[in-house]
Amino acid sequence: MSKIVFFSIPAYGHTNPTIEVVRELVDRGNEVLYYSFNEFKDKIEDTGAKFISCDKYLPELRPEDEKKIGKDFSGLIEMIADTTISLDEKVCRELKVFNPDCIVSDSLSFWGKLFAQKLNIPYICSTTTFAFNKHTAKMMKQSFMEVVHMFFGMKCINKKIKLLQRKGYYVKNFVSMISNDNDTNTIVYTSKEFQPMSETFSSKYSFVGPSVSKLIVKPKDKKRKLIYISLGTINNKNVDFYENCIKAFKDCDVDIIMSVGRDTDIKSLGNIPNNFEVKNSVEQIAILQEADVFITHCGMNSVNESLYYGVPMVLFPQHSEQRMVANRVAYLGAGLMLKENRSKNIKDTVFKVMNDNEYKEEAIKLSKSFYNAGGSNKAADVILQLIKSYC
Ligand code: UDP
Repeated sequence: MSKIVFFSIPAYGHTNPTIEVVRELVDRGNEVLYYSFNEFKDKIEDTGAKFISCDKYLPELRPEDEKKIGKDFSGLIEMIADTTISLDEKVCRELKVFNPDCIVSDSLSFWGKLFAQKLNIPYICSTTTFAFNKHTAKMMKQSFMEVVHMFFGMKCINKKIKLLQRKGYYVKNFVSMISNDNDTNTIVYTSKEFQPMSETFSSKYSFVGPSVSKLIVKPKDKKRKLIYISLGTINNKNVDFYENCIKAFKDCDVDIIMSVGRDTDIKSLGNIPNNFEVKNSVEQIAILQEADVFITHCGMNSVNESLYYGVPMVLFPQHSEQRMVANRVAYLGAGLMLKENRSKNIKDTVFKVMNDNEYKEEAIKLSKSFYNAGGSNKAADVILQLIKSYC
């Protein structure tokens, strides 16, 4: 039996893929501690792992900071540094007692990597986005405003890095904080076929494909096509877009399920037509098993899950990382970019994707590569093999 510690950031997109891996590790008789946040407590405990709450160690977010999440890179790095510093004493003390065989940490919960280095514990990076190195970084074109935020944030980032160094952490510079290197064992939750420039990553990278919940829904006798719409769980308060979707499909012979996020007041969308089901959150994995097309913000997990079930997409990315994912889907022919947030454009793009079978065929090709990659079982194998190699 091995002892494994997981770390993640407070985000569904970064936590969801690890859940089935943890379940698999526990089922195989290993002991898992998971440092996460109260929102994910039930999900984590349901796997049989021990949940440890980090909520009170997160820096407090002002309303203006919340708007920046997912968009402002310098703000993110500052948050990572602050969280590491506030968790330092607690985690180092607890890990010395637990004495784990390995730390698996999300690529953005940088603190996991720092604790592993400081305490000399084998470390595996868990990457729920595309793997990111100097080659793929060139593909991730930042918007002008993102570059401006980064520029003005640099002074603060450098200050935080000095603070980390004084606490005994080895941090070269901010790029080393966020990028993957070829010497680090890394699990990536997509397939080699979907990862851009996969040939530039070393054999330390395991592309295991999406790790989705094993929930299976019985196919229903569908009378009409089903369109699923979601902008994910973070920057999803886009009433204008939801209203345009309602306008686009209110008189069409299709069914629509629209997940608008927990901060969107459904009443603010006015009258909901009969062919619409609008919710603050849905069981996305279940809906994708029935959907004919997915209008998505192109979060990596949403796209992975959509392709896993062979569902072609209409691509509506909101920031540079999502644009990179969207470009990859469009390049591989499994979806089409939404050019404008207007009802006519939304309707035309959706019907083009639904009526032209090529998009579906390309999505199914990628789905096969995802199944073959091994998913959560493969990820658990990688972790346990690495632990064995250190014994
Ligand atoms: N999700 C869900 N129900 C919803 C919306 C999203 O279960 O109503 C899940 C989805 O299946 C995915 C995650 O939340 O696993 C969203 O991650 P993604 O990387 O796509 O986007 P983010 O929310 O991080 O922007």
